[in-house]
Amino acid sequence: MSFPLLLSPLDLGFAVLPNRTVMGSMHTNLEEAEGGLERLGVFYAERVRGGVALIVTGGFAPNEEGAMFPGSAKMTTIEEADAHKVVTNAVHEEGGRICLQILHAGRYRYGGGAVGPSAIRSPINPFKPTALDEEGIEKQISDFVSTAKLAQDAGYDGIEIMGSEGYFINQFIAARTNRRDDAWGGVFENRIRLPVELMTRVRAAVGERFILIFRLSVLDLVEGGSSWDEVVRLGRAIEAAGATMINTGIGWHEARIPTIAAMVPRAAFAWATGRLRRKLGLPVIASNRINDPSVAEAVLSKGEADMVSLARPLLADAEFVRKAAEGRANEINTCIACNQACLDHTFEMKEASCLVNPRACHETELHYRPTDLPKEIAVVGAGPAGLSFAVVAAERGHRVTLFEAASKIGGQLNLAIKIPGKSELGETLRYFRGRLEMTEVRLCLETRVGADRLVAGSFDHIVVATGVAPRIPEIEGIDHAKALGYREVLQGAEVGNAVAIIGAGGIGFDIATLLSDPGDDADRDVAAFMRTWGIDMSGGARAGLIESVVRESPRRVYLLQRKPTKLGNDLGRTTGWVHRSILQRRGVRMLNGVGYRKIDDAGLHIVVAGEERVLEVDTVVICAGQEPCRELADRLAGQRVHLIGGAEGAAGLDAKRAIEQGCRLAARLPGSTT
Ligand code: NAP
Ligand code: SF4
Repeated sequence: MSFPLLLSPLDLGFAVLPNRTVMGSMHTNLEEAEGGLERLGVFYAERVRGGVALIVTGGFAPNEEGAMFPGSAKMTTIEEADAHKVVTNAVHEEGGRICLQILHAGRYRYGGGAVGPSAIRSPINPFKPTALDEEGIEKQISDFVSTAKLAQDAGYDGIEIMGSEGYFINQFIAARTNRRDDAWGGVFENRIRLPVELMTRVRAAVGERFILIFRLSVLDLVEGGSSWDEVVRLGRAIEAAGATMINTGIGWHEARIPTIAAMVPRAAFAWATGRLRRKLGLPVIASNRINDPSVAEAVLSKGEADMVSLARPLLADAEFVRKAAEGRANEINTCIACNQACLDHTFEMKEASCLVNPRACHETELHYRPTDLPKEIAVVGAGPAGLSFAVVAAERGHRVTLFEAASKIGGQLNLAIKIPGKSELGETLRYFRGRLEMTEVRLCLETRVGADRLVAGSFDHIVVATGVAPRIPEIEGIDHAKALGYREVLQGAEVGNAVAIIGAGGIGFDIATLLSDPGDDADRDVAAFMRTWGIDMSGGARAGLIESVVRESPRRVYLLQRKPTKLGNDLGRTTGWVHRSILQRRGVRMLNGVGYRKIDDAGLHIVVAGEERVLEVDTVVICAGQEPCRELADRLAGQRVHLIGGAEGAAGLDAKRAIEQGCRLAARLPGSTT
C-alpha cells in the first residue's frame, strides 16, 4: 500500500518539508530530568531517522508564572537556550527540523503563582490564578517574544505557540475564563487581542524564515468556549498575524469528553480540522488518534488537513514514516491509545515511555544489540511478556523457541481485545505475529511443554512467562451455576439480564463495559461517538457541545468492591474518569465497601454499610484479581530459569509491565558486541 499524499513534500515558502508528518508535542518529563535534554536529542534524532518531517517539543514555559508547576521546564535565559543545542544539533545532524513549543499554563499551573485573564479557578486544579493587570499582560507577551528569540538562538527551526487545550492563551480567548472588561476582555476582538498581538510581535522578532505554528482549539468542548464563527475568526486573525501553519487542538483538559483515549474512534476529530482548513489559506495540521498511515492518508485525501500530527504513534514506533514509505506499514508497532506509559506517566511525574515500545524515551540505556554469544533459549507462554522477550532476544541473534499451549499467540490480549474500545490490541497482535516471523522465532503452538522436555532440550536459558490464573475468592456458593469467571464470559458464556461483578479492578471495569454495552458503536463510528458524547458536528453549538444521547445498559449491572474508596481509583490517571463516566451514563450501579456473604438461587448476598442485601441477579462474574501460574517454574527449580510477566508477580501486573520485563530481560542477556 502506498501513501502518496502522506509522503508528498510540503513547501512552506522558505523551507520544504519532505512529507506531511509532524511529531506532535508530547511532554515526556525528560524536559526536567538531569541530563534529560541529551536524552531528548537522542530520542528525537531516532524519530528523524525514522522519517518524520517536523518535530514539536514538549512544552517549555516563557516565564516562571507560566510553568506547569514550580521548577518545570522553561526557556527564559541564554543559558537555558544554549543547553537546548544538544537537542537541535542532534535533530539537524540527521537532517530533521524541530520547533520548540512555548506553553504557558495560566490557571492550569499546579502550585502557587498562577496568572490568568481572571481570577477563576479551573475545576481540575485547586490553585486559583491571579488576574493579570495591564502591565502583567504586557510582560507575558514580551516573555513569549523573548522565548521565541531564544529558541531561534538555540537552533530551533521554529516554534509552536500553545493556544489550545485550555491553557493560558485559550483562557484569554474564551468567555468561560476571561471576564475582563478592559481592552483584553469582553467582546471577542478583545479576547483574541492577546494571541494576535503575541503572534504579530513574535513574527516581527524572528523574521520571515522561521516556522511559526499556532495551536488553535477548534472544539473547546467546555461551556463558555468559542463558537464556530469565533474559531474561524481567530484562525483568520492568526493567519494574518504571520503564522506559518495552524495546528489544531481538541477539547480543554477540563472537558469531560475523551479526545485521545482508546474509545475515541481513529481520526475522530479530523472533520473539525477540515472545516477550519477550508476557511483559511495556510497549511493546517490535524491531530488526535491518527495512528496508522492509511488513516493519515484518508485525512489528507478528504482535504481535512495539510499535515497530520503523530505524537503517541511515534513513541510506539520511531520508524512509522519510514516503514510506510518502504511498503512495510504492516510492520508498524501501532499506538493503542492506552495512555498507560506515556500520559499517565507524565501526570504521575514519571518519565514517559510506551506500553508497546519500552525503548521510547530510554534510547540511551535500553539497547537491543546483536549478540556475539548466541544462546539456545526456550520461552514458555506467548502472552505479552513471552512475546516481547522472544522477539527482542531473537532479533539480537539468540535462537529462540516459543512454546504456547493455546492455538494462537497473545495470551490475555486475546480476551482484552473483546472489550469495546480495546480493538487496537489487534494491532499489537499483528505486530508481534510479524516480528516472530521476521526474527525466525520457532513458534510451537498447542504445545503444553513440560519440565522434562525443557530440561532434555538442553536450553541455555528457560524463560517462564506462563502468566496468571484468575483468583477464586472464598465466598459461599462460589461454584453455584450463577457464578462465572471473567474468562468464561469473554469466551462467550451466556450472561443473564441482571449481573453482579465481584471486583472492580481493570478487569471488573472491562467486564462491566462489555456487559453494559448498548451497542451504540461509539468506539468505532465517528458520528455515533459524537452523539454519545454530545458533540455537535454542524458548527451551530457553542464550543461544540450539545445534549448527549445516552443509551442505557441493556442489563442491570452491579460493579462491586470491598474497599471503601471510589471505584476505579487505581485505573489509569488519564483514562480512569472516562471508564467511570461510561458506566455511570449507562446506569451501572457501583457499590464500594461491600462484604460478600454467599451466592445462591436468589442471587448474590452482600452486606453494605452494615445492611444485609440480596442482589437478585442471574449471573455473578468473578473479577477478583489474579494469581501467578508458577507450577512449571517450581518444577524447573535448579535450572537457568527466568520468570517474567504474571508468572513473576500478579499484583499490579498489566501489559505495560509484562512487555517491559520481556524486553529488558532480552536486552540484558549476555553477549552484546558493543
Ligand atoms: P485488580 O486490578 O487487582 O483488581 C482486583 C479486584 O478484585 C479489586 O477490585 C479487588 O478489590 C477485588 N478482590 C481482590 N481480592 C478479592 C477477593 N479475595 N474477594 C473479592 N474481591 C477481591 O485485578 P484485575 O482487575 O484482575 O486486573 C489485573 C491487572 O490487569 C491489573 O493490574 C490491572 O491494572 C490490569 N488491567 C488494566 C486495565 C486497564 O484498562 N488499564 C484493564 C484490565 C486489566 P477489593 O479487594 O476492594 O474487593
Ligand atoms: Fe500509545 Fe499506549 Fe504507547 Fe502511549 S503508551 S504511546 S498510548 S501505545
